[in-house]
Amino acid sequence: MKAETYRTEIQNFDVIILGTGPGGLQAAIHASRKKVNVLVMGRPESSSLYKAHIENYCCVEGVKTGQELLDAGMSQAASFGVKFLREDAVATSVTGNGMFEITSEDGGIYRCHSLIFATGVSRKGLGLKGEKDLVGRGVSYCVDCDANFYRDASVAVTGGGSAAVHGALTLERLAREVTLITDTLDVSHALRKELDASKVDVLKGRKVKKLIGKDKLTGIELDDGTVLDLDGLFIERGAKGAMELAAFLGVNLDPEKFTFILTDEKQSTNIPGIFAAGDICGPPFQMAKAVGEGCVAGMHAALHVKAMKRKEDRVDNT
Ligand SMILES: Cc1cc2nc3c(=O)[nH]c(=O)nc-3n(C[C@H](O)[C@H](O)[C@H](O)COP(=O)(O)OP(=O)(O)OC[C@H]3O[C@@H](n4cnc5c(N)ncnc54)[C@H](O)[C@@H]3O)c2cc1C
Repeated sequence: MKAETYRTEIQNFDVIILGTGPGGLQAAIHASRKKVNVLVMGRPESSSLYKAHIENYCCVEGVKTGQELLDAGMSQAASFGVKFLREDAVATSVTGNGMFEITSEDGGIYRCHSLIFATGVSRKGLGLKGEKDLVGRGVSYCVDCDANFYRDASVAVTGGGSAAVHGALTLERLAREVTLITDTLDVSHALRKELDASKVDVLKGRKVKKLIGKDKLTGIELDDGTVLDLDGLFIERGAKGAMELAAFLGVNLDPEKFTFILTDEKQSTNIPGIFAAGDICGPPFQMAKAVGEGCVAGMHAALHVKAMKRKEDRVDNT
């Protein structure tokens, strides 16, 4: 990683971006090109992209690893003067003069005029031994992203909601055999009928107990001791955003499930100066969407800083 790492106790920035994924990096690139100083916080290795293999991103041919893309994005942003802090934000507040204050996990305090949330979503895993190591090596959290890699393969999907059933039906068109492993199935009547009419093999009342395979998934063991030989396991248990920091600032979340930040066409939230981009704004969870929203958020965050500074100058001159 060529990008410089930045660490200090208390520091003011024009724009602070929470998230070192494609949304945050693109926001940083576009904001910094408007001559404002930018700090990006977060860990690239926690980005959803880190363990992904990408072959559907425009202008990039072939399969690229997420790690390669993140490395390139960080270097590019650093070349425009963007600073990086490899720590998570643990608290947010608003200061008396309308700036936002972020506390990092090491206790550092950072202030900014514009704040961008690009914190992605944390996908709910099974919490099984070896699960994290096998992501991108037979374990996936995203059928829409990875189905293509499992043509003519033997795969299973685990989960009990519409994401799992939709995933299994998508895979049925590509894979050799598809098993849906579900503890309890909670889907609409129509979707259940579609599932019943499909060739998906449904194992009800079962849970995945163990992942088999060291460098690559080769199978799974269920809670009743059944062993399935598999090329891929898709864990489709929905997605949850890390929303507490945004909610604390009064940012509006989607009214149904409170899992996504609501934004307008400028990627602005209901709080002036706070923007959001990428997976945290809701599906589809795709790099291209994160990058597009990051571009818009970065530009408008920089414009907000300039407007704030002009206002401060006018006050100083009166
Ligand atoms: C296995 C897999 C395969 C995929 N395949 C594809 C594909 O083929 N094509 C495609 O387009 N997309 C794919 N995706 C989806 C793609 O990776 C995401 O849509 C994209 O990474 C979203 O970008 P983002 O910037 O919104 O969030 P992320 O990339 O998830 O980045 C979030 C960032 O926020 C940071 N963060 C979280 N909390 C905090 C905090 N409190 N303080 C500071 N920082 C914080 C994290 O550390 C991370 O750096 C795949 C995803 C997975 C998991």
